[in-house]
Amino acid sequence: MKIETKAIHAGDRKADPAKPGAFIPVTTPIYTAASYIYESTAQLDRVLGREEDGYCYSRYDNPTNAALEELMASLENGYGALACSSGMTAVHIALLAALTDRRKSILAASALYGATTSLLCKVLEPLGIEINFVDICDLDKVRVKINDNQPGCVFMETISNPLLRVGDMDRIAELARAAGAALVVDNTFATPLLVRPLEHGAHMSVHSVTKFLAGHGDVLGGVIVSDQEHHIITRNLCRTIGPVLGPFESYLTMRGIKTFALRMERHCSNACRVASWLTSHPRVSKVHYLADPAHPDAAVIRRLLPEGLYGAIVTFELKDAGKQEMFRFMDRLKLVVRATSLGDVHSLVLYPVIASHRDVAPKQRERMGIHDGLVRLCVGIEAVDDIIADLEQALE
Ligand SMILES: *Cc1c(COP(=O)(O)O)cnc(C)c1O
Repeated sequence: MKIETKAIHAGDRKADPAKPGAFIPVTTPIYTAASYIYESTAQLDRVLGREEDGYCYSRYDNPTNAALEELMASLENGYGALACSSGMTAVHIALLAALTDRRKSILAASALYGATTSLLCKVLEPLGIEINFVDICDLDKVRVKINDNQPGCVFMETISNPLLRVGDMDRIAELARAAGAALVVDNTFATPLLVRPLEHGAHMSVHSVTKFLAGHGDVLGGVIVSDQEHHIITRNLCRTIGPVLGPFESYLTMRGIKTFALRMERHCSNACRVASWLTSHPRVSKVHYLADPAHPDAAVIRRLLPEGLYGAIVTFELKDAGKQEMFRFMDRLKLVVRATSLGDVHSLVLYPVIASHRDVAPKQRERMGIHDGLVRLCVGIEAVDDIIADLEQALE
C-alpha cells in the first residue's frame, strides 16, 4: 500500500475484541483513562504479566497512542513505534535504547538541532557517556572516527539544520553496523514521505511530530520508530521512565498525519518555486536548497530523495547583511510568521543567529557557515505567489 493511503487508514478502526458485534468508531477516540479493568483478576494478572495483550496503565500504553504508533510504524516500515511527549524526549529515549547493550559512546553529526547538541553535551556527557562529533557528510572521516571511537551509537539528522546537508545514510548505516553500533536518525526535516530511515539501515528513526507530521503548530510531540530489537527496549524504558504522549496530543497528531502527504507535496513544490525566485533576487547572495544541482551532497540527494520532493526548508543569505538589516527584513514580513518552529501550514522564518544557534560562539558560527546574513525559511502551503509577494516587499 502507498504511503498516502497508509497515512489515512493505518492504526484506525480497531474493533474491541471484548465486544464482538459492537460498533467501530471511524476515527480513534481519545482514551483518557489512566488504568483499565477486566472482568476477572486472573485476566488482569495475565495482562500485567504481559502473557496477554491488553491495557492496564497508561504509562505502559494507551489505545489512542497505540493507534498513532501503529500508523507511524506503518509509514516508516518499522516493527513498532513509541509516541513521546516531545521530539527531544524521543531523541533522549532512542539514545538510551541504542546504548542499552552497547559501549557508552555516541558519535554524532556535528551539525545538529540545538537542543540535541545540549542533550549530548550538557546531559549525557556529564553522566559519563563519551560524546564525539564528526562531519557526517565526509564518509572517510566517519569511517576513521568509528574505528577510533568504537561508538555504541551513531546519531545523525537526515537533513541538517539550517544548511541542509545530507549524509549518505546507507553507507553510514553499513559502517555503524560493521562496528556493532546502532544508527539513530532524526528524520524530522524529511518526514516518511521523503525518506524512511529503517529502509536505509537505521535501527531507529525519531521525529519531532510537532513539525510536519502534526503540521498545524498546535501540538508538541515526538515518535520513535524502531526495528524489533529496539522496539522492545524502548517499550521497556517507557514503562520505567514514562516519556509518554498525552492522548489529546496523540489524537491531534493522528488527525494531522492524515493530510501530511498532501501538505508535504505542497510544501515541497512551493519551496522549489521560492528557492528559484530567491536565486535570481539581487539582494540574495546564496540559496541553500536540496534541488540545487551544485549542492555539495547532490549525488546523495538524488539517490536518497524522491524526484521533486526536496523538503520545505530554504535557507538563504542576504548580501552584506548584519543583524540590523536582518531584523528589518524580518519585521517587514506581513504573511510569513517570525517564530521558532517549522513544518506548520503557514510559512515561517527563523534567524539562526538569535534562535537555534544563539548559544554558539560567533567565531564557531562563522566556521559552521552560519553567517549573520543567513535566514531559514520554512515554506508553508499558502498560495506560493502570496509567499513570494511578501518576501519581495520585505526585501525592498
Ligand atoms: C524541533 C526539532 C526537535 C525537537 O522536537 P520538540 O518537539 O521541539 O521537542 C528535534 N530535532 C529536530 C530536527 C527538530 O526540528
